[in-house]
This record gives sequence, structure tokens and C-alpha cells, in this order.
Amino acid sequence: MTTNATRASLVAATVAAFMLAASFAPAQVVRSKNGNDLRPNGKHQGIDDPKAPPAQDIADDNAGPSNQASRSRGSGNGINYHGGPVMLGTVNVYFIWYGNWSGNTATSLLPTLISDLSGSKYEHINTSYYNGSNQHVAGLMNLSGQQNDNYTYGTALSDQNIYQVVASHCPSLGGCDTNGIYFVLTSSDVNETSGFCTQYCGWHDHSLDGYTSSGPDIKFAFVGNPARCLSACAAQSTSPNGNPGADGMASIIAHESEEAISDPLLNAWYDSRGEENADKCAWTFGTLSTAANGSYYNFTGASKTEWLIQRNWVNASGGYCSMSY
Ligand SMILES: [Zn+2]
Repeated sequence: MTTNATRASLVAATVAAFMLAASFAPAQVVRSKNGNDLRPNGKHQGIDDPKAPPAQDIADDNAGPSNQASRSRGSGNGINYHGGPVMLGTVNVYFIWYGNWSGNTATSLLPTLISDLSGSKYEHINTSYYNGSNQHVAGLMNLSGQQNDNYTYGTALSDQNIYQVVASHCPSLGGCDTNGIYFVLTSSDVNETSGFCTQYCGWHDHSLDGYTSSGPDIKFAFVGNPARCLSACAAQSTSPNGNPGADGMASIIAHESEEAISDPLLNAWYDSRGEENADKCAWTFGTLSTAANGSYYNFTGASKTEWLIQRNWVNASGGYCSMSY
């Protein structure tokens, strides 16, 4: 919450009003049948999974699993650890540009986003997440490769098609790197039929979550072009880099990367509603600055490019949404 002058509040209110129309209905607040945390499905919705593991409190002790049910849930920071891995060290990011991106500035803009995020105070928020051996996320990313895909599966893609795109490209793109996140970035004429623009703007998952039964467990994400549905998947229709679709993708890429790193197999960090770290701060932006064209931004990295990206959840001091840590 900004304590700044009236103008800042006005700006926040203006964006909030747009946001209200833009955002989807919040996830239902429900408890799982067994009292454990709902399990995330990577699409910002908790699943009531009777097999979902109980939250662990590794910050306080290393007691065995038999002791977990009676202990306090999670870290007291509003998000709980469930025993799975996080992505350590420098995380490799791969972009697969699906469809027709010819002449779209997204292809030069979004690679810059990854280098701007890496090592920033914003990305440092993710270092508040750790695994069962108390190894923390590094807050570092590197764009390690990019390829194009010329509509191999047409313009209406299923979740399985997204995985198939990843599987067909990853052998020659980092060698199906298990410390990588493979992003499928679709052009605005492409739909993702399980709910792009109506249920979600992006999602992340991993290959052994039902996409395939063998091979390396590849982390991947779908990010559609919000130009297809600006009112649903972009925070503003005039944007700092003059490309509302690409600027909207920047916030979604930030969101999915934060979750893929802190909860790559959907069994590490999420709250009782099944919300992962970025879900808890979705469509909130903190203090805004005004770009030359009158649009808003809230983050600049090494390149000085202006970005409007959502805040992320800090897993410390009780937990809070922030742009830095
Ligand atoms: Zn999410």
C-alpha cells in the first residue's frame, strides 16, 4: 500500500479499476477433504487432492512425518512447504515462439526481461524459498536458448499440445534441461483451449504430471499473447513499450517463472487454498511510475526498459506482496 500523495492513489485506483474488469473471479476458498492444503494445478486453482501431502515446517525443526499433523502448518508466512524440490542455482529459461511473431517487438523485448529480472531485488524475493535441506533459490535466471515453431499443432492448442511442442524442441534446445523452464509463447491468433483468456493467462506444469510417463521431468509453461484478450490478460491497454500484448506477457512470464522455480513439481510451496507464491499477489503492482506515453510501469532492470510486472509473495516476516526483498 503506497503512503504517497493523492496522485499515486489516483494512479493505483485507475489501474485497480481496469484490473477489476481484467481479473478473474478469485479462487473459491475451500478446504480439502482431509484438512491438508489444496494442491496447486499450475493454473492458479487449488485441487482438492486427497493425496496432497501435509504442510511441513522445516524452518522450525526436522521432526519426522509422523509428527507433522500436530505441528503448526507452514512457516507462519502465509505459504507452506510440502516437501518437494525448488529450482536451485541459475535457472535456464528457454523461449519457444509458437505461431507468427514476424514483425512483433515481443521477440526483442521479452529476452531483455529475463536479464533484467535476474539478480534484481525483485527476483531476490524468490530467494526466500528453499528446500528440505535449507538450500535457497538463487534469484538468478539466464535465457539459454530460443526456437520458433511454425504452427505445428495449428491455432487451437490443448495442454497436451503445449507439452508436445516442448518435447519436440527441447532435445535441440538445452537438451531437455531439468534445471530449465521451457516457455511456449503463442502469437495472438493462437488459442489454448483449456481456458486461455477465460480461466487463465498462463500456466506452468511439469512433464511427469500426466503428460508423459518417462524421461526427464521437464518444467514448462504456457504464456499466451494477451493481445488476444487485453481486457482479461493485460493490466493496461497502453503499455510502456508500446506493445500491450508483449508488455502483458512480461508480467505473466514473471508470474510463471516465480512459481516454476519455487514450486516446480507442484509439491513444494503453496498455501492452504493451493495458491503458489505469485498467485497470492496476482494483478497487484505496488507503487506505479508513469511512462512517456502515459502508461504505467513499476520495474526497471539493468537495461532500463520499463516494465509493469506483478508483485511476488515474500516468504519472510509474516509474508507480504512486494516488488523487492
Ligand atoms: Zn500462478
